[in-house]
Amino acid sequence: MDFELYKDYLKRASDQIPEGAKQSERFTIPGVKLRYEGRNSLILNFSKIIQKISRDVKHFLPIFLKNLGTMGELRGGQLFLKGQPKNDVLDRHINDYVNKYVLCKICNKPDTEIVKEDKKLVLICHACGARYSIDE
Ligand SMILES: [Zn+2]
Repeated sequence: MDFELYKDYLKRASDQIPEGAKQSERFTIPGVKLRYEGRNSLILNFSKIIQKISRDVKHFLPIFLKNLGTMGELRGGQLFLKGQPKNDVLDRHINDYVNKYVLCKICNKPDTEIVKEDKKLVLICHACGARYSIDE
């Protein structure tokens, strides 16, 4: 997928979110949309999920795959996974990641970013100003 198409794809994905949902205080991650291919799987809406949690896929992916205990790789905006994990297992691992690396542990808001300081990863919250180091 070329970059312009990808941007367009992301834009369309975000246009599909109803106005009410955008303004909602509640931070919800889209449920995984899975397609099984032979003995493997594809997360079809992976780019949408990554966009929502606004984290670098290079940070997300190794942690996610390790917790899941399988191998996988990006294919366009989709994530290819070895094996056939169940939707709720994938959703749970994504939520675990979000709780640890996206939501501020002080105010619980998702307006955060991860920066590298002295070889440590530090989570900075733009909502309440908290900053703390996170493992891995
Ligand atoms: Zn905060």
